[in-house]
Amino acid sequence: MTSRSFLRLALAGAVATGGVLFTTLPADAGKAPKTVPVRLLALNDFHGNLEPPTGSSGRMVDENGNTVDAGGAAYVATHMKGMTDRNTIAVAQGDLIGATPLVSAAYHDEPSVEFMGKLGLKVAAVGNHEFDEGYTELRRIMNGGCHPVDGCSPAGKWKGATFDYVGANVLFKNPRERTDALAALGGSNSAKVKQALADWGVPALPPVSIKVMNGVPIGFIGLVTQTTPSIVTSEGIKDLKFVDEVKAANVASKLLKLVGVKAQVVLVHEGDQVTAGQSPDACSAVPGAGNRIATQVDPEVDLILSGHSHQAYLCKVKDPAGKDRLFSQGGSFGRVITQVDLRVNTKTRDVERASVVADNHVVTRTVPADPEISAFVQTWKDRVAPVANRPVGTISADITNTAAPSGESPLGNLIADGQLAATRTGGNAQIALMNPGGVRASLAYASSPVNEGDGVVTYGEAFTVQPFNNLMQVVTLTGAQLKTVLEQQFTGGPNNQAFTKILQPSANFTYTYSRSAAWGSKVSDMKIDGVPVTDTQTIRVAANNFLVGGGDAFLAFTEGTELWSGPLDIDAFVDQLGRDNPIAPPATNRITAVD
Ligand SMILES: [Zn+2]
Repeated sequence: MTSRSFLRLALAGAVATGGVLFTTLPADAGKAPKTVPVRLLALNDFHGNLEPPTGSSGRMVDENGNTVDAGGAAYVATHMKGMTDRNTIAVAQGDLIGATPLVSAAYHDEPSVEFMGKLGLKVAAVGNHEFDEGYTELRRIMNGGCHPVDGCSPAGKWKGATFDYVGANVLFKNPRERTDALAALGGSNSAKVKQALADWGVPALPPVSIKVMNGVPIGFIGLVTQTTPSIVTSEGIKDLKFVDEVKAANVASKLLKLVGVKAQVVLVHEGDQVTAGQSPDACSAVPGAGNRIATQVDPEVDLILSGHSHQAYLCKVKDPAGKDRLFSQGGSFGRVITQVDLRVNTKTRDVERASVVADNHVVTRTVPADPEISAFVQTWKDRVAPVANRPVGTISADITNTAAPSGESPLGNLIADGQLAATRTGGNAQIALMNPGGVRASLAYASSPVNEGDGVVTYGEAFTVQPFNNLMQVVTLTGAQLKTVLEQQFTGGPNNQAFTKILQPSANFTYTYSRSAAWGSKVSDMKIDGVPVTDTQTIRVAANNFLVGGGDAFLAFTEGTELWSGPLDIDAFVDQLGRDNPIAPPATNRITAVD
């Protein structure tokens, strides 16, 4: 049973029932302008979930308030086919790849990109995770070729993505080439277009993609969160700058207008938060970075489809001209497809805003799995099975990445313990700190594909938790610098919004923080192995290369000296899982939080 309750978002004047749209006709219907229908089907934050995601990542609250199993490539395909009509353009809002399960990651996400092509995807905005392996690797994913280190996958030479990647706010720091942008605009020789580009900077990716549907051109503008440099490993994007999304969208919008494209859609990898448990068709998004973009980009842009925050919502916001504009997101991991139906006036070539109707459609698993995609996924599972199914340890109960009130999670603590163990000898590490956002999934006692319910953890499951292939590093910090790192848990980040990211500490490091104390003096009572830390002592601190590079705005890490690089984070984790079996969930008593 597909969830067809269609609690649709009907923008001014439109009433929708059962998939049919009735617009109120003007008194003189004979003079009504001719319009053509367009349907957009949108996905975001798929993160390579070819297999049905497990645990909370594989559940979704539907329009009736029921929590249902959702996601999985073969189910995405079945739903997509059912929703696709002859007016359909499939699009995406980034993070299709990166931070992916082993079945995709082991082959540099070629399987996931190929799957997206099979779905019929036409345009995708880049997300921050498309840069996880660096800009050069993203270009290979776009254009084809074998991996420079790992060679060709078992499927042979990579042919490249069959859809367009767009990113209007990704520019070269130092101009090198400007071919992409012009090519995306159909190789326009217009002096105005050239001047507009020259004034703007040199795009590192095509800023826009134009698709013609029913005789009218639709322009898609790609955007990625401008915070990308603080959440992606710096080395791979060192030649790039990520500029303000609104400014970039407005330049791209102007370019589209110059070439006669007035039906404009922003695909943006930035989004807002919602109330837990709400219907995927509700709004109530707390206005944040996504809302800023949705309300501020040029009124010529008709729709804002978003991503990044892994939330499902359908909002109606006002554009700067006061007109209603759709602002949506479709959850994550292939659990939701956003369907947007609209009509384009063939005379003005613009979207009739009143015709825009959207529905967030939950990708249930109660439909038949698509046989072609099932076989495709199985082929890759078979290829990766010898690696994925290798048992690496046992656990006595679920070990979750759910934060305790102090901000620690049992799994975060376990990972930190493994990181310290892996860096003590070569790097002389004394403590370890792990970024909470990098603990990508929980370990479930009962989920082992090898022997259900025996607590066995496989390499594939461990990889799902630690999928980034980050390097473990150790730097020397003074006690004062370490305190600054911990103070930076409470501030910094995107647009200087206050936010909290509690680093997961190894068991031998304890401290207290006060929620109410002023920023800069929240942290006290730091101890290593029970011994108080002084401001001037030096401490060897282990963390992954993302954090050591100042990731998540932990800039104090970059003041570290005597950098040592060690094993991969996944290897440190796998070694930890092999110790002291079965492993019980670590207590979350390393940090004391007081009000
Ligand atoms: Zn993202």
